[in-house]
Amino acid sequence: MKIIPHNKPTLGPRELSAAKRVLESRWLSQNSEVTTFENELCGFFSIEKGHAVVVSSGSAALFLALWALGCKNDRVGIPVYSCSALRNAVEMIGANSVFLDCAEKSPNLDISSVISSNIDTLIAPSMFGIPIETDKNLSYKLIEDLAQSFGAIYEDQPIGLRGDIGICSFYATKLITTGGQGGAVISKDKNLIDLIKDYREFDNRRDNKARFNFQMTEIQAAIGLCQLNQFQEFKLKRNNIFDIYRDAGLDLIDVDDKNCKPIRYRAVLKTDKPLFLIEKLKEIGVTSIVPIEEEELLDNSDYYSNAKWLTHNTISLPIYPDLNQKIAHQIADCLLQLIK
Ligand SMILES: *Cc1c(COP(=O)(O)O)cnc(C)c1O
Repeated sequence: MKIIPHNKPTLGPRELSAAKRVLESRWLSQNSEVTTFENELCGFFSIEKGHAVVVSSGSAALFLALWALGCKNDRVGIPVYSCSALRNAVEMIGANSVFLDCAEKSPNLDISSVISSNIDTLIAPSMFGIPIETDKNLSYKLIEDLAQSFGAIYEDQPIGLRGDIGICSFYATKLITTGGQGGAVISKDKNLIDLIKDYREFDNRRDNKARFNFQMTEIQAAIGLCQLNQFQEFKLKRNNIFDIYRDAGLDLIDVDDKNCKPIRYRAVLKTDKPLFLIEKLKEIGVTSIVPIEEEELLDNSDYYSNAKWLTHNTISLPIYPDLNQKIAHQIADCLLQLIK
């Protein structure tokens, strides 16, 4: 039996020839591929050239965003239902994490709880590809985390620019990858991007400023460019799979707002028997997972009832561009029989 993985990067001859092109050029470290990738990202987000900087990971991007915004010693709001990279970055900059619960039955943090938590800075991920609704009048610094929502749309614009800074991850399992690890920072404020570029350009400098090597390689950028060019195709295929599950009648986590167009990063089924369904899918060779387990929450689960509920009432189904649509129908049929 061929095992269907939960997730798989979409790689083909284009990525192979991009990597080969760089290897053959013998110029491996940050150079023209990186600049081109940065420029193309600006195009993607409809911002002027110079407003994006690519780095070695999404975690590096988060750290650099906090650094550029001067967040040391800040109270930084982060959702408990997210990735440990958020807590790591806050720790590394020397700030204090203020943990936030999700909104009810939503993977996104409860934005109405933010004001009363008295924070200086908020890291706001749009989880599973569903755009979070942000405050219109910001009384804190806002970093949008697009690691799971690269290309999601709010009010006809790709999200990421509603606050001070947006960060992307191009890790292997994300919407596009730069070949395993990678990240980016975007901002409407070019000064912030220039600050971050200066921090990243650590070598051959004539002053004693603190800097760090967070650079992306040419191979990574070349693969990233290739993936970015295929984004619309990836998006369509993800939409098709999501629609197969939804149209079959599965109760998936989604958003009901005309202004929001999610990117289908995850197809997450609401169910009160997640472990049973995961076992049954395994029997037909399909890998599904609890998207975030209780032990993975970033703080003691007892204080965050909505996040805790999600950890016990959801499973994440395979959804990636290469997934055969026939398999998606089989997964839906199998689940429907078990749920009835
Ligand atoms: C994956 C992820 C990150 C971290 O990105 P890396 O590139 O793995 O360092 C940050 N935030 C969220 C929401 C993520 O899913």
